[in-house]
Amino acid sequence: MKKELIFMGPPASGKGTQTKKLAAETGFIHVDTGSLLRQAMADGTEAGKIAKDYVEKGALVPVEVVAQIIKDRLSQDDVQKGFILDGFPRSIEQANMLDEMLKEIDEGKEVSTKVVYFDVPIDNLMERIIYRRSCPKCGAIYNLKTMPIKQEGICDACGSELVQRKDDTEEIAKNRFDTYFAQTAPLIDFYEKRGNLVKIDATGTVDEIYKKLKEVIA
Ligand code: AMP
Repeated sequence: MKKELIFMGPPASGKGTQTKKLAAETGFIHVDTGSLLRQAMADGTEAGKIAKDYVEKGALVPVEVVAQIIKDRLSQDDVQKGFILDGFPRSIEQANMLDEMLKEIDEGKEVSTKVVYFDVPIDNLMERIIYRRSCPKCGAIYNLKTMPIKQEGICDACGSELVQRKDDTEEIAKNRFDTYFAQTAPLIDFYEKRGNLVKIDATGTVDEIYKKLKEVIA
């Protein structure tokens, strides 16, 4: 059976960290919308050129641009046994588009789909964003305040220089939270009504949250 997991939650709720851990352990493919957009921007593709202005402001990239990127990615061979979709959908309109594209891609397949909502109080998320650093090479995510690293500015896992995402500043993060509440949060209700939403309490340590995640997706 094809296993489809859709992870949602506010910015810096820990989805990325948990997904990477789950993908490494299970072999599920991580489809990360934000990373796909940042890659398109770095490659200077048409989609990347359009996305740039929106990403830099903390607004949603136009739906047709994101949907095409996701559709192309979800059509590739490596995700036909399953995937973890992180960062899409981010609005009701995108959720409806996802339904349409999966109907086409999954035709004739037996599929189990679960939406996991990372429930976390938003009070300390701004701090997580400002202190977040990531490794451009292996994708490891760090927090300068809460996760001691061996050598300042260097990835423990692969030795590359850590970077701060351009949109991880207080000003842009405020817009990202506004965008989240206005457009993405209504999806909780949307999927809850459909009966395939599971919520996990995403407070605590990475290992504690991972344990809860494993329980709900078992
Ligand atoms: P993330 O890495 O998930 O925090 O996403 C970074 C930025 O990429 C967001 O602030 C948006 O500008 C853009 N983005 C990511 N996912 C989507 C999406 N599903 N729809 C529109 N824009 C998106």
